[in-house]
Amino acid sequence: MENLWAQSLKRLERIVDMLGLDGGMFKYLSVPRKIQEVAVPVEMDSGKMDVFSGYRVIHSINRGPAKGGIRYHPQVDLDEIKALALLMSLKCAIANLPFGGAKGGVSVDPAKLSARELERLTRRYTFELIPTIGPEKDIPAPDVGTNAQVMAWIMDTYSIDKGYAVPGVVTGKPIALGGSQGREEATSRGCVYCILSALKILNYDKPCITVAVQGFGNVGSYAAMIMHDLGFRVVALSDVYGAIANPKGIDPHKVGQQVKKTGTLDRYPEAESIPRDSLFSVDCDILIPAALENQITGDNAPDIKAKIIAEGANAPTTQEADEILASKDVFIIPDILANSGGVTVSYFEWVQGNYAYFWSKRKVDITLREIMDKAFEEVYSIHKDKKVSMRDAAHQIAVGKIVEAVKLRGIYP
Ligand code: GLU
Repeated sequence: MENLWAQSLKRLERIVDMLGLDGGMFKYLSVPRKIQEVAVPVEMDSGKMDVFSGYRVIHSINRGPAKGGIRYHPQVDLDEIKALALLMSLKCAIANLPFGGAKGGVSVDPAKLSARELERLTRRYTFELIPTIGPEKDIPAPDVGTNAQVMAWIMDTYSIDKGYAVPGVVTGKPIALGGSQGREEATSRGCVYCILSALKILNYDKPCITVAVQGFGNVGSYAAMIMHDLGFRVVALSDVYGAIANPKGIDPHKVGQQVKKTGTLDRYPEAESIPRDSLFSVDCDILIPAALENQITGDNAPDIKAKIIAEGANAPTTQEADEILASKDVFIIPDILANSGGVTVSYFEWVQGNYAYFWSKRKVDITLREIMDKAFEEVYSIHKDKKVSMRDAAHQIAVGKIVEAVKLRGIYP
């Protein structure tokens, strides 16, 4: 399979072509503004030293400061981070946030590190990035393998270096440090709002609408819980260790309690354990891939029974799978739309921090819904008017907005 960066460039080239832009613009958008690759030496608890590879890629700053998460995962490499940074530029444009796009990551398995090792790794990685991050420059946030505690360490390291507290340097912070209400479940909530819009616009109505969710991390677990609370029937769930299914329904809150105790949803007593790969072929109406990239492929796409796919993860679907799903008339809510709720509430957090005035959870949820509904409508209307896929529609809108900013600002000197 082609790597994510190669796939992203192909898609970008196609979109630039569809919009009738010249090849120079493709070149401009395909070269990130800044790429950093840093060594992250860490003294492990054993006393031995280890060195990890860290990255931060700023894809664009045309529409505002760079914005995007930091991922801790063994699969992280420069090409993956470049692709995810490009997706962040597009995502911020779709949601109309005044941000460019960035992404960072360290190639490490955080589950294998102690809390102290993770803290040392985070602080050293942050130290390396101090010259280029900042509330007006580049604002990190959580992603796969990182959380509010990691953001607190980043904020602390940066602030100690500056000599004063700089909460605006990251989003996704703990509430006690200026984090926003509703940030933790924001990606999932935004994804659910998109699903509700899709069901309405497609007139998809039946007595019991079923859902399968791949991944039980931050995005997957909250998505399953919110869908369950709204009355949808969650019939299958998976995590890195296994998958479970029950056509009569699974309560994701109860699954969450087991995960807290045992670390996995596998062998949950009120559902059947199924092979992990068969999660995608489960009979359901809605499928939410909420794990990593390149999960829905040419191999498993033919078995998918869902009528709607809402991409909670970044880039979960390969181009080949996209074509297969299109031929089966599956309605795809693409990543840059479906999971833009996370960065949208990050934006709210940044705004609240700048004003030092904090919103209620209700205000966060209502404002998030307004933004998600508007973004969905815009993408859906291009999808209908231009007869292009939802993904192409989303990419056309996002690239169009970035290109407008590039042209208005011009090139210096
Ligand atoms: N990591 C999240 C994403 O991929 C959130 C980024 C942010 O809040 O800046 O969208």
